[in-house]
Amino acid sequence: MISTEGLVDFHCHLDLYPDHRAAVQDAEEAGIFTLAVTTTPRAWPRNHELAQATRHVRAALGIHPQLVGERASELALWDEYFSETRYIGEVGLDAGPRFYKSFDLQKQVFEHVLRRCAAAGNKIISVHSVRSAKVVLDHIEAYLPPGQGKIVLHWFTGTKAEAKRAIEMGCYFSVNAAMFNNERHLSMVSALPLERLLTETDGPFTKTNGHPSKPPDVLNVVEALGHLHDLSNHDVISKIKINLRQLLEFH
Ligand code: MN
Repeated sequence: MISTEGLVDFHCHLDLYPDHRAAVQDAEEAGIFTLAVTTTPRAWPRNHELAQATRHVRAALGIHPQLVGERASELALWDEYFSETRYIGEVGLDAGPRFYKSFDLQKQVFEHVLRRCAAAGNKIISVHSVRSAKVVLDHIEAYLPPGQGKIVLHWFTGTKAEAKRAIEMGCYFSVNAAMFNNERHLSMVSALPLERLLTETDGPFTKTNGHPSKPPDVLNVVEALGHLHDLSNHDVISKIKINLRQLLEFH
């Protein structure tokens, strides 16, 4: 069996598994650097507490665009916790049909989030951009000056041209296994520079062999990237590690 030590799952909802504490412990014991993103600031204290006791798990403070319609009032709570973490997410925009009615509100919240991050200067931000790649990039360009924060576009499904624009803006991309099953997404992923890539599961929202994905399943992404770029798993893992180090070293 291949060791999971040193793998990176840069976007996983550990608090949405039946046993949150066990999910954190499993990621820790597997030695996987796991960014535990959250969808509401109310989830922050517990995520923060569990992650703080680990070496490999980091909690991110989020306000998910799909929840903004009902929970924009929690932005005050998000502000309250903001200084407790370097990691922000899941944040962003979702222009899918179910969430489009809150799109204006989402834009206001995302603008606020980016402005706060720009003022802080050293945040690392996991960003959702479903059907809204252009507007997400417009927001980042307008409210997060280069060098004032780092964006990791999670499960990015924009066009190749939008990806190119994001690369020029300095964004990273966390890619998951589902992105390799779609011809258009695969073609976009294959055009991303390896040095801007991180791996993710987005568990439990993706499935591996019929079960909600867990951090060790990120190995499937490693394998898919290896096939794509003709690299061994070992080489992919070490490249992703270097990318993570570079991302974390900024500032
Ligand atoms: Mn997610």
